Amino acid sequence: MMQRELSDAELLALDLDLFSTDCERPELCEGDAGHTSNRSTESCCTGQGTAEVTCSANEQSSNQQNVSEQESDPLCEGSSTKRRKWDARIPLERFGRKYLSVTDLSRQAWCEQQVVYGMELPHIQQLRDEVPVVKAGSCLHLARELEVQDVVPINVESREDNWAVKMLNLLSMIQFLQAGELELRELKTRGQRTYPSAAQKRSHHLQVSIYKLLFEAMIKGQLNKDTITHHLHLRTEQPLGSEILVHAQKVGFTINTFGDLLDLMLLNLTYADIPSVDTMKIEYCYQADASVIGTEVVSFEEEWVKSELKHYSSFWKGQREATGVDIEEAWKCRSCDFADICEWRQSKAEEATQKNRANQCK
Ligand code: SF4
Repeated sequence: MMQRELSDAELLALDLDLFSTDCERPELCEGDAGHTSNRSTESCCTGQGTAEVTCSANEQSSNQQNVSEQESDPLCEGSSTKRRKWDARIPLERFGRKYLSVTDLSRQAWCEQQVVYGMELPHIQQLRDEVPVVKAGSCLHLARELEVQDVVPINVESREDNWAVKMLNLLSMIQFLQAGELELRELKTRGQRTYPSAAQKRSHHLQVSIYKLLFEAMIKGQLNKDTITHHLHLRTEQPLGSEILVHAQKVGFTINTFGDLLDLMLLNLTYADIPSVDTMKIEYCYQADASVIGTEVVSFEEEWVKSELKHYSSFWKGQREATGVDIEEAWKCRSCDFADICEWRQSKAEEATQKNRANQCK
């Protein structure tokens, strides 16, 4: 059975052609610029064949840097619309993203405008991430992960080391992925003991469907080494840190550089004869006592997923403006942190008022 072994970012980072754009201006992030040595701790997994889902400490620092940069950016003053007009970069560049995560895309399915505000005003998004209900959800996820894996702390010295940890986790999982039918399970935690609304389910369905799409692209050998290194600004010739090498040796891999490990991973994924995902399930769990509310089987509709992805990626590539929710889904705005400042919402409200007036005049 396949548990949730791969993080969103890992999966999408490994299939960048689908979602990334070729930015002429490489962005810099901490640990990236000059590739300075940066010691931090990552985790490798052993034992039960599931990969660790971790955020790299370097990437977290990078996010923090982005926050302060955006707060002091003069372009951040004034309305969002003005700000966007001033800034000619495409959204992917404007928000300093190398790639999109599946979470970004499934949030976009809920409200694209909300995703944009979350990135433009990260301090508000951070407050949201710190509310008890969100924290409780994260704890449940962590508890589930710890049920099926042992975590080994590893000191990492470069961005290549961070990615090496992810790749070693993936490699250590391959033998388990080969064993028979694969079931993709996603855990969703809920503050109430109820199923989510149809709109929430739709974004959850999109999320697991993208996992399946990317997973299958990965095992069909559709990952491209140059795409990975180019978009993530990783150096194949970078020697891996001592703790990475020791761990790799322990799990049976003899490697020296990041490029060695990347080649090994791509080769293994292509020739390991890993089957496709048979079933996709979403388990809804009540946060207060971790009891299961229910499990939904999701049917995979490839055409639908691909057309959704095309639509969402066109925003990131600057081919269209962000959109908010339709008037029929205005109920979503009631629980939105950006409702007071949302220009989309205001324009929809004005539209509705004018329509009402016109109807009254008839
Ligand atoms: S107020 Fe409504 S339209 Fe605006 S960002 Fe929030 S959910 Fe989206």
